[in-house]
Amino acid sequence: MSDIERQQRFWETKTLEEMDQGEWEALCDGCALCCLQKLEDADTGEVFYTQLVCYLLDQENCRCTDYENRSVRVPDCVKLTRESIPEFHWLPKSCAYRRLAEGRGLADWHPLVSGRAESVFEAGISVQGRVMPDNIVPEHDWEDHIIQWVER
Ligand code: SF4
Ligand code: SF4
Repeated sequence: MSDIERQQRFWETKTLEEMDQGEWEALCDGCALCCLQKLEDADTGEVFYTQLVCYLLDQENCRCTDYENRSVRVPDCVKLTRESIPEFHWLPKSCAYRRLAEGRGLADWHPLVSGRAESVFEAGISVQGRVMPDNIVPEHDWEDHIIQWVER
């Protein structure tokens, strides 16, 4: 493997801890699964995903419409950091960060591998076309919107 190829496929040659900020950000496959609202069973700690997605998400292209200010506008917006790597097991099984943390590499449909952002949609991994904004459903009814299609 040449030096350039090695740099291009940084996710195979560096650990999560070794990646620079640009590489870390590029790992996100754009599925937006982590933008889904989740409910936790107070007794068992079990987490359930709902089909309700953060109201700031552009559901067509699965992008945050205010990424810069997301932490202010949505205080519980999840920010993945190197310090939180040991907790990545709560993420969807397909999430690039969890995959690398578990030594599973990136899937063929990951945009870094395919070279195309659309491949995550075509593989049926993203939330595209199967969610609704969380601000149109009262919080006490979120339980009615629990889903099973997010692989854990
Ligand atoms: S689940 Fe992982 S890969 Fe998907 S949008 Fe969230 S951080 Fe990115
Ligand atoms: S603020 Fe943006 S990144 Fe955070 S959950 Fe909402 S849509 Fe997703």
